[in-house]
Amino acid sequence: MTLAPNVYDAEPIPEAARAEIDRLLQSGDLFRYTAPEDAPVALLETEFAALMGAKYALAVASCSAALFLSLKALNLPRDTKVLIPAFTFAAVPSAVVHAEGRPVLVDVKDNYRVDMEDFAAKLTGDVGAVIISHMRGHTSDMDAIMALCDSADIPVIEDAAHSLGTQWHGRKIGTIGKIGCFSFQSYKMLNAGEGGILITDDADLIARAVIMSGAYEHNWKKHKPPHGENSSDLAEAFARWQNRLPLYNTRLSNLSAAVIRPQIPELQRRVSDGLKNHDHVADLLNRSPWIDVPAPLAPETRAPDSIQFNLVGFSDEDTVAFQDAAKARGVSVQVFGMSQDNARAFWNWQFIDDQGPLPQTREMLMRACDTRLPVRLRKPELDFIAEALVAAAEDVKGAGLAYGT
Ligand SMILES: *Cc1c(COP(=O)(O)O)cnc(C)c1O
Repeated sequence: MTLAPNVYDAEPIPEAARAEIDRLLQSGDLFRYTAPEDAPVALLETEFAALMGAKYALAVASCSAALFLSLKALNLPRDTKVLIPAFTFAAVPSAVVHAEGRPVLVDVKDNYRVDMEDFAAKLTGDVGAVIISHMRGHTSDMDAIMALCDSADIPVIEDAAHSLGTQWHGRKIGTIGKIGCFSFQSYKMLNAGEGGILITDDADLIARAVIMSGAYEHNWKKHKPPHGENSSDLAEAFARWQNRLPLYNTRLSNLSAAVIRPQIPELQRRVSDGLKNHDHVADLLNRSPWIDVPAPLAPETRAPDSIQFNLVGFSDEDTVAFQDAAKARGVSVQVFGMSQDNARAFWNWQFIDDQGPLPQTREMLMRACDTRLPVRLRKPELDFIAEALVAAAEDVKGAGLAYGT
């Protein structure tokens, strides 16, 4: 009998990280601003900006910190409304609260993407910013979102924490809005345990974010302008904000940067393996009448390291039974709205104002399943997972009925 695949271990960190970490341990040079130049964090920023084709990058302690600094960099007045999708991780409304904004949740459809009708209705004149979470890499209609936000002059922050490598019309996710934020937490494409980064082309925004991240005194001088660019925009922006902003000290350590940098050359392979694996499992699951893997939107090329699918024609009891049956077959499935205290179920965000019914999101969360699919898995392991999930659905609904309905 094939053993159920281990879906929890991350990929090993590339060997190249060791020498650099050893060097850092020897010198004790762990703080990004000790060296006059070329600190690992600064090099990571240069490399990440180049990878994304962005002018500026700022590496910080987490994607949550990146989202918080993005909102602060936008200089929004206290209590400004910030639109966020109702399907996201609790870190997102938390970042809005941290930045003293008011999160307003937008309903999400059963394909995990923002409902554009609800979005348009909630994008009122008093909205100061929009955060779009590309949740689990699922991309909402960025054409429609950008058209509405651009015409209302409302800045868009992309929460691409879990979406590094995804493209929209061939354009990198995280470069479409004014600011893009990414995570280096262990369950994301690049793993440093913890960490995050924000990118933007706007000199004023990056200067504000850099200072507030903890570039006290003149440490901003260690943030280089992009290669070949005129540096005066950036220098002027730093001069404008010197001593005028609080320092939230949410910097990244050189050790984390040393863990991340050698993973960057692996990204393309991880992205293409992840997509191939995902689509293989999706095809197998979609053969079951009880399971629906929503199709991506046409302009979207995903970079998945997990799979989401909806149970079709299942009651609450059936859904619980499905989770148990999958577990008995060795595959762990999380139904976002069914597991107790799930951080992606909006009703558990009791630190924000009640947001009304959000009927589509609630319905989706009660049937949407989440299974990890690390990019290192091979075909037999992927087949094992897909077969276990299809069989678990049949355990609950009956194989005889399966192809007769
Ligand atoms: C992981 C994640 C975050 C939070 O990232 P951290 O680096 O852990 O703060 C935010 N949004 C989404 C969509 C995520 O997947």
